[in-house]
Amino acid sequence: MKHAEAQRALIAHGYDLGKGGPSGKGDDGRWGNLSRTACAAFQRGRGLAATGMLDAETIKAMQSAMAERRPAAPGPVVKLPGFPKPATRRIEEIIVHCTATPEGRAVSVHTIRGWHIGQGWKDIGYHWVVLLDGTIAPGRPESQVGSHVAGRNSGTMGVVYVGGVAADGKTPKDTRTPAQKAALLALCRSLIQRYPAIRRVTGHNQHAAKACPSFDVRKDELGRLV
Ligand SMILES: [Zn+2]
Repeated sequence: MKHAEAQRALIAHGYDLGKGGPSGKGDDGRWGNLSRTACAAFQRGRGLAATGMLDAETIKAMQSAMAERRPAAPGPVVKLPGFPKPATRRIEEIIVHCTATPEGRAVSVHTIRGWHIGQGWKDIGYHWVVLLDGTIAPGRPESQVGSHVAGRNSGTMGVVYVGGVAADGKTPKDTRTPAQKAALLALCRSLIQRYPAIRRVTGHNQHAAKACPSFDVRKDELGRLV
């Protein structure tokens, strides 16, 4: 494996190698500081000695990491509003939530932000909000670690749809409108395209004993995107 090839593998896994090379993302074949730092992080993630050097074991791990990658399932993507530049923090997973508000009730990003700030948080906990009509609205900047799932906020992106309980205000219910279903899929596909290190899309209920997001992501099209 040549240096440029290893750099392409690191870039595909979400590491930031700067701007050089044919792709403009740092695959210039020069094994400088950025490459060594990214390589060391990759090695650490795979349980190898974090030397930053391309030894035989690291090359093997990179080749198998590339072979494991599957392209995201095809379908519409959207141009994401609000955060023109992708975050440089490493993002490996999308976690889906609901606002736990009654079916059909419109809730704005402003309102959710108010709830979370009222709990003493610095901002809304989620990065993206899917409104009842399928509008995708930005929440907390992607560059910042969110506040949406205990113990798993770093390395993840939190997306939420408005709804998730029946009209009684308490019984968990998958209240996604057709527009919200389509928007959630397009949002997640776009995030996967934007952050190639994303390996899975999960629901909050896979990480905690909670109903949120009131459906099983593993049985949904969302769970099959990567
Ligand atoms: Zn949740």
